[in-house]
Amino acid sequence: MSDTIFAKIISREIPAEIVFEDDLCLAFHDVSPQAPTHILVIPKTPIARLADTTDEDQALLGHLLLKTREIAENLGFGDAYRVVINNGEQAGQTVFHLHIHLLAGRPFHWPPG
Ligand code: 5GP
Repeated sequence: MSDTIFAKIISREIPAEIVFEDDLCLAFHDVSPQAPTHILVIPKTPIARLADTTDEDQALLGHLLLKTREIAENLGFGDAYRVVINNGEQAGQTVFHLHIHLLAGRPFHWPPG
């Protein structure tokens, strides 16, 4: 878990276009964007999946969501953006370090597929 690509981005072993950082989280542009703006917001603590969180992570999860909202607003997308968490391989998760996708800059459809 500690050697995922995102752990290496946190430790700066791998470069990323970082847009926000604090003690608890890091946000950076997705290397393969699925929208004009596609940012990943990740906790610095290595949690593999949303399914692995517990009640003890309540404050951290709230922090990640609030920072996601703040980043969207700061980029001028306060009114329209999509937030996605893929949990598990069958749901499309490929990096097993919890992350929130923040997608913006185009219309989004439902169901997401
Ligand atoms: P998942 O499919 O796990 O929900 O999302 C993983 C995301 O991480 C994908 O959107 C993928 O493009 C992105 N990603 C994978 N490797 C890297 C990387 O090395 N750098 C950055 N910035 N994004 C990455």
